[in-house]
Amino acid sequence: MPDCIFCKIVVGEIPSAKVYEDAAKLAFMDINPVQPGHVLLIPKKHYERLTDLPDEAAADLAAALPRLARAAVAAARADGFNIFQANGRCSGQTVSHVHIHIIPRRNNDGYSFHWRPGQYAPGEQEAWRKKISDELVKTRKSGS
Ligand code: 5GP
Ligand code: ZN
Repeated sequence: MPDCIFCKIVVGEIPSAKVYEDAAKLAFMDINPVQPGHVLLIPKKHYERLTDLPDEAAADLAAALPRLARAAVAAARADGFNIFQANGRCSGQTVSHVHIHIIPRRNNDGYSFHWRPGQYAPGEQEAWRKKISDELVKTRKSGS
């Protein structure tokens, strides 16, 4: 087993406040919530990044999000929610086991993700569109 906090939570070596569990995935309360009701959803199997997941495992994980978000929002009497997911240290990932944050939000809760919108120079967006489209053509579906 990798030396991983979330793998230890999966096997019960580290306690957690679980809200949902099935054979493939686990949802539990984040120990340091951004807002009350902050839940983490993880696959039970250790993968570091979202991009490491086979498509089927990613689909199964994602399918649980609406139900979990409805529950967290209802419990927190929230006005909305954020889904946040980080991959790699550069992006803010601090635990190297893929996880999805479900964060209930309230009007005027004082929290902000500090999103700073950028702009493309003329032609730049098309160059990026092409680069990404070309990568997609090269990339096989996982598992194939
Ligand atoms: P990241 O920064 O990687 O996107 O998120 C990792 C999250 O895991 C953080 O929000 C942090 O509070 C949470 N976390 C870290 N260690 C533990 C733990 O032992 N138990 C629980 N429940 N959450 C943890
Ligand atoms: Zn792990």
